[in-house]
Amino acid sequence: MEIIREVALLRRRVEEEKQCGRSVGLVPTMGALHAGHVSLIDRARKENDIVVVSVFVNPTQFNNPEDLRTYPRTEEADCEKMINAGVDIAFIPSVEEVYPEPDTREFNLGPVAEVMEGAMRPGHFNGVAQIVSKLFAMVQPHRAYFGEKDFQQIAVIRRMVQLEDFDLEIIDCPIMRENDGLAMSSRNVRLTPSQRAIAPAIHKTLVASLDFAKSHTIAETKQYVIDEINAQPEMEVEYYEIVDSLTMQPIANWSDSDCPVGCITVYCGQVRLIDNIKYTK
Ligand code: AMP
Repeated sequence: MEIIREVALLRRRVEEEKQCGRSVGLVPTMGALHAGHVSLIDRARKENDIVVVSVFVNPTQFNNPEDLRTYPRTEEADCEKMINAGVDIAFIPSVEEVYPEPDTREFNLGPVAEVMEGAMRPGHFNGVAQIVSKLFAMVQPHRAYFGEKDFQQIAVIRRMVQLEDFDLEIIDCPIMRENDGLAMSSRNVRLTPSQRAIAPAIHKTLVASLDFAKSHTIAETKQYVIDEINAQPEMEVEYYEIVDSLTMQPIANWSDSDCPVGCITVYCGQVRLIDNIKYTK
């Protein structure tokens, strides 16, 4: 595996591979890699000749400085995981390399970016669009891989791709979970043992809500999920919205969407956990 830290070298190496007719898959990450990330890498490995993984804790998408400061950084372990997963190029740049000048671009991301994460974390999705558009421009991959754990993020990235006319395929990959159902996340290491023990209640409640939803309205189902999770010690729901999976807009009736998805954010102590579930009809 090549570790590349400079943009110019990255561009050159990827260009050389493409000149030889090889297809390129990109997996953007913020490091602290876990099996969720590895599932994206595995998929990219199957579908492309060359797999590029970026490891970059992007400051412009953090609206909370404390979250940025304490975000886990584990480069050595990440490299080992990337080597084992068969990554060809690990792009691990410094902040100065990616942003030699402050990025002042404001993307017109529209309604998909205004609700849920967009409402709770002002500037977050603009920061995501900044870094992902830079990575797409640097690598110009044939395919880029994203996890459905960050369900709204995928909709935002699709919108950015449309705005910027990037010629690539966005591939969404299913959520990887721990054995007890907790969605894998780099932030899980910050949970105390008692919080870690209670955190699977999020997924359990979402699964239980699939059955509940068969005989209840959207409003009742939302309330059920919020009450169940808030009843757990140390847990507080920030939002639970049931939205259309394409527009990300909240729906009022089950019949308003062909594929409703419930998106949740829960504070477990200080740790913000995110998850979602699809309500198939
Ligand atoms: P992050 O490093 O948290 O920015 O995540 C990098 C990519 O991995 C994003 O596309 C995430 O959606 C994806 N990802 C993170 N956790 C999981 C998971 N548990 N299952 C699948 N994909 C994930």
